[in-house]
Amino acid sequence: MLRIVLLLFIALFFAFPESKGAYSLAKHEEKILVVNSYHRGLSWTDSLNKGFTESLESSLNDVEFYFENLDAKRQNINLILPEIKSYLAARFALIKPKLIAVTDDDAMRILEILSKEIPEIGRTPVVFMGVNEIRVVPENFTGIFEVVDIRANFELIKQLMPSTQKVYCVIDNTTTGRVMGKRIDSTMLTYNPPFEVSLLGDCSYKELIDTLSQISNSEAVLFFLFNQDRFGRFFTYEEILDSIYKYSKIPVFGTWSFYLGRGIVGGNIISGYHHGKRAAQLAAMLLQGVSTQSLDPTEGPRKTMLDYKQLKRFKVDRNLITKDVIIVNKPSARLPIHKGAVISISVVFILVIIVAILLFGLSRSRLKNLRLQRYYNQILEQKNAEVEESLRRAEEANELKSAFLANMSHEIRTPMNSIVGFSKLVRENPGLTPEEISGFLDIISDNSQKLMRLINDIIDISKIDSHQLTIYKRPVQLGSLFSNCFRAAEVELDRVGKNNISMEMSFTPHDAALEVLTDPDRLHQVVMNLLNNAIKFTQSGRIVLGYAMVQDLLRVWVEDTGIGIDQQHHDAVFERFRQVDGSLNREYGGSGLGLSICKGIVESMGGRIGVSSIPGKGSNFWFEVPVTIAKPGEPVTAQVKPTQSKLKNKVLLIVEDNQHSALLLKEMLKGTGAVLLHASNGMEVSTILNDKVKIDVALVDIYLPDTSGYDVVSKIKKAQPHAKVVAQTANAMDSDRDKSLKAGCDEHIIKPIDRERLLELLNRLLS
Ligand code: ADP
Repeated sequence: MLRIVLLLFIALFFAFPESKGAYSLAKHEEKILVVNSYHRGLSWTDSLNKGFTESLESSLNDVEFYFENLDAKRQNINLILPEIKSYLAARFALIKPKLIAVTDDDAMRILEILSKEIPEIGRTPVVFMGVNEIRVVPENFTGIFEVVDIRANFELIKQLMPSTQKVYCVIDNTTTGRVMGKRIDSTMLTYNPPFEVSLLGDCSYKELIDTLSQISNSEAVLFFLFNQDRFGRFFTYEEILDSIYKYSKIPVFGTWSFYLGRGIVGGNIISGYHHGKRAAQLAAMLLQGVSTQSLDPTEGPRKTMLDYKQLKRFKVDRNLITKDVIIVNKPSARLPIHKGAVISISVVFILVIIVAILLFGLSRSRLKNLRLQRYYNQILEQKNAEVEESLRRAEEANELKSAFLANMSHEIRTPMNSIVGFSKLVRENPGLTPEEISGFLDIISDNSQKLMRLINDIIDISKIDSHQLTIYKRPVQLGSLFSNCFRAAEVELDRVGKNNISMEMSFTPHDAALEVLTDPDRLHQVVMNLLNNAIKFTQSGRIVLGYAMVQDLLRVWVEDTGIGIDQQHHDAVFERFRQVDGSLNREYGGSGLGLSICKGIVESMGGRIGVSSIPGKGSNFWFEVPVTIAKPGEPVTAQVKPTQSKLKNKVLLIVEDNQHSALLLKEMLKGTGAVLLHASNGMEVSTILNDKVKIDVALVDIYLPDTSGYDVVSKIKKAQPHAKVVAQTANAMDSDRDKSLKAGCDEHIIKPIDRERLLELLNRLLS
């Protein structure tokens, strides 16, 4: 009997030689490197991995997976980003995988950077899954976005429990939590649920459970995730759900499949297993030679699923449930079946199938055609969904672009109006008194600086987007760094006439004396942005600038007693072009770029930024960045007196073709005692060098009419190696600075040139 069954199985196998899936390959080993953002044992990561590996193992003959788990749920991996990058690069070089798979946003972000930095990785296809933040991905990437349909969940609650008055959304402060928070905000912009929505999550585990256990009957919970509480304590999804189920008496809805069976009523659910399977289909096509460009990323599948027991517990009317909903946890009427009977029935069943196949003579080619047809139908459906999604995204981008252009036009035209208007007034009105002229010139200078700040902001945004924002670390004393910021804020308070606001500093003398290794210019930029916002949004009371070293983290905060920000906008203010008051006749100006730049800078430094605020009471913006202590505390020395000018009798060669720029430099250097020479092009520089005039410093413009400024730099350095050379250019990217230094320049200064800065730089070079 056993032999017969065996033979039948072998026959069955040969009857379906291609039954291993539409993408079966010839027998050779495919290596896949899987980089997980989180850890094994986390239900979400495990379900993605299971769907992905099971599906690929069944469609490929020989596949080997190599796993790396970054553990970003439990630790702040930004602190060891450079080490993780080099480790993954080394692993890649060792394994040489045909394909890389990433799960969730943290691993995705690192692979995006590595793809840009390491050409071999840039050429390897990357399939992603579980990624929350929808964005344009690099060319070698494709995959599945994990998009929770918040609106569908709200509608489900409304449908099943029409008397609900308030829904608590539980989200934590992890990467996924923050993305969910933003999605809730954007859903609320276009959808008005029939109940109040309140976010819950920026609290301790105890506060969460206390709040939920006191909630009344007409309220519900929509549980997203709570992997970390306010103190950074880690919890698994299951631990939290079990506690909520134990202590709260109200219905809980959830968004992921592994929440089912743990006390949730249900929800519009995402299954990690099915997302993994979808990603595996993409991976199989890529391994067959299909290019990533022809497989656009898509959203993963979602289904409405409800738990039978919970529906009963909350006495949900079954008539309110639509037909397409999947009900799980139904009690099944199980009959005790004897094991032997099961085997016999299975054998008979197989026999019936084989006989049926033989009888109907179903040809293999017909089967193959059917499979092909199914495959193309699937691709067609997928493409249709992609087109719809692209349309939706294009509309969204268009709206954002229009709002941005309207705002930019306002932000550029307002200062231009003053600059053009007052310049004309000064030029055409000979009867003005010297006081009036000086007042008008102050207005012109003020507005020029406003424009300059806007241009700098736009350049910073493009640096952040192209990963060109470089951090230049050098030793700096904390006390002097923050005193400078504090003094600048006092000047600004005075300028805007808000003298009724008091300014305070909070720090310990020990911290002030520390010398740390960091990028002081970028730190100064972030602190000033926060201070200027505090000044802008505060009418009276006080502003506090504080800093403290907490182990190897520098924590900085700016506290004010201003208008404050509603909880629902706390994350949105860090997004670009987002302002709490989005109306056209806004009371406060601004481009909406400042905080998003701060966020970009702080994150490039490996840190994080946030806000706590109460409307009408005030705000506390804070950030923390890792720094290395260069020198332990020595008493803070008094302010260094400005040194004597080193420029007296020094020969300065200005290489500049633009007559206005040359004139400006000459005027700035007037009175320093320096001997000024001017060359308008490369030819004139050669003449000066041939005349053997000894040059102390050359200020070289990089765009010249007859030659490149870089050639002029090397000519000067070759003829007079001791001469110092400064590139002076309007090219503001960090890569331009690197180019200048590579060409032999000692320094690089960006136009518009600030006189104080120029003199400080020249004195430094000559000392
Ligand atoms: P903007 O140039 O509009 O100030 P930001 O990115 O700096 O752009 O800030 C974004 C928004 O965040 C502001 O428009 C304002 O609504 C809010 N905001 C920032 N700082 C504060 C603060 N200290 N108090 C109240 N609201 C603030």
